[in-house]
Amino acid sequence: MKVYLVGAGPGDPGLITVKGLGCIKKADVIIYDYLVSEELLKEARPEAEIIYVGKQGSSHTLEQEEINQLLAEKAREGKVVVRLKGGDPYVFGRGGEEALHLVEKGIPFEEVPGITAAIAAPAYAGIPVTHRTCTSTLGMITGHEDPTKGGTALPWDKLATAVGTLVTYMGVKNLPYIVGELLKHGRSKDTPVAVIRWGTTVRQKTVVGTLGDIVEKAKDIEPPAITVIGEVVSLREKLNWFEKRPLFGRTIVVTRARDQASDFARELEELGARVIEFPTIQIVAPKDFGPMDKAIKKLDTFQWLVFTSVNGVESFFNRLLHLGGDARWLKGVKVCAIGPATAGEVSRYSIKVDCQPSKYVAEEVLEELKRQEPGGLKGRRILMPRADIARSFLPQGLQKLGAEVTELVAYRTVLAEPSAQKTTGRRGETLLERLKKGEIDVVTFTSSSTVRNFVEIVGKENLIGLDGKVCFASIGPITSKTAQELGLKITIEAKEYTIPGLVKAVKEGLGVKDSNCN
Ligand code: SAH
Repeated sequence: MKVYLVGAGPGDPGLITVKGLGCIKKADVIIYDYLVSEELLKEARPEAEIIYVGKQGSSHTLEQEEINQLLAEKAREGKVVVRLKGGDPYVFGRGGEEALHLVEKGIPFEEVPGITAAIAAPAYAGIPVTHRTCTSTLGMITGHEDPTKGGTALPWDKLATAVGTLVTYMGVKNLPYIVGELLKHGRSKDTPVAVIRWGTTVRQKTVVGTLGDIVEKAKDIEPPAITVIGEVVSLREKLNWFEKRPLFGRTIVVTRARDQASDFARELEELGARVIEFPTIQIVAPKDFGPMDKAIKKLDTFQWLVFTSVNGVESFFNRLLHLGGDARWLKGVKVCAIGPATAGEVSRYSIKVDCQPSKYVAEEVLEELKRQEPGGLKGRRILMPRADIARSFLPQGLQKLGAEVTELVAYRTVLAEPSAQKTTGRRGETLLERLKKGEIDVVTFTSSSTVRNFVEIVGKENLIGLDGKVCFASIGPITSKTAQELGLKITIEAKEYTIPGLVKAVKEGLGVKDSNCN
């Protein structure tokens, strides 16, 4: 039994410490706060108990005393308890109180520091909190004290001029009071100030001004935010990197199946985008493995194995391994993959593909196979493990040239469960509501079935009013055509029909200021 008081870092889940992450991974119970990135909770063991005790403004789920008791209670059950707190537990986080309570109850604890908001949020806003030519002193204060209570805990007369950089936590509501005190005690009204809300997250917003005008400029900023006061703020002009990333501030919807969404989502996030995963499709096993098993058992009768999707590869090889086979069963069979991701998946099974077209559509696969067989495709036996709803163009084209094609249903693409699409924001709004409000910049489609199912889920009649409010982006011409047929106007289309190609197209499509989606 032990309690770990762990700093989760300021918001970007990547800013937790290695030690902190290790604690999350071994926890039996995780008790976490409002400012903790929920991404981090995905690292917990599936059987871990996860308890939210957040305090947001004046609404508390549990009072501090109750939290203290909960920590002790769970530890006494012999559990590894992780108390996960925003930033650093001991910086305005009441971590000290929790630790004292544990000591009082004789419960062993450890403290794992975290990166505190006063350092990290400015860093992500392009502000080093100390800088040799500006200041070598740094003060971190709470702006939460109640000015009406009379008497003040903060020595404003000293703080105003003795400390170069002053960072205030919890000071949004009291900003006019804080600014007033600093000016009253001799700080120049030209002192640069930045207010940073949701620092280090995709929602980061920064307002810059001076002590003279920041109150007016930041009047719409709500908590959580920190305020940085001092000459260092002016370095932001040169050092602002995070908010300058190409997709910063953009909200992008990924409609592909949950299992496949993460690479795509990560690429977009690295460019600064806020990604909403809204899976429209789900990949499930074929109803009957019979035909696939039969084909796999006589693989040596085929000349070609043609893959047109990563899912097809995965399902085919899983079945081959399930039947007791390995790469050797493919001896003598040539392999064609539609594009680099599919070829990459094939290579995971120690097979090199023999051919891959230069453009990643079925039409080009046909051309490539024709090139590969200069003597003609007549009589060639070709195996194609694919989706139940795959296009008939390729098998038909090959048959016309005299090939013997065996199509296999390697997987099925079905409408995703509605429960998978619930997480569209803290306020619990539906995707359609957010689309209507113009909160979404781009909806991406990576296959025809993502388009079809998106239209089905959102409702065709609801899409009419969205013109100009959102861009629709497609991975290539086939997907675009399906969209067009369903009345969706595609304004961004990948030139290379891959996920990186789509990311590039989205970036270019939005890179232009005031990009026009109509
Ligand atoms: N222990 C935390 C601070 C908790 S006090 C830490 O070390 O960072 C809560 C206050 O921290 C908020 O009101 C806000 O002022 C500040 N804060 C925490 N996370 C923040 C973030 N991502 N962006 C801006 N301010 C943040």
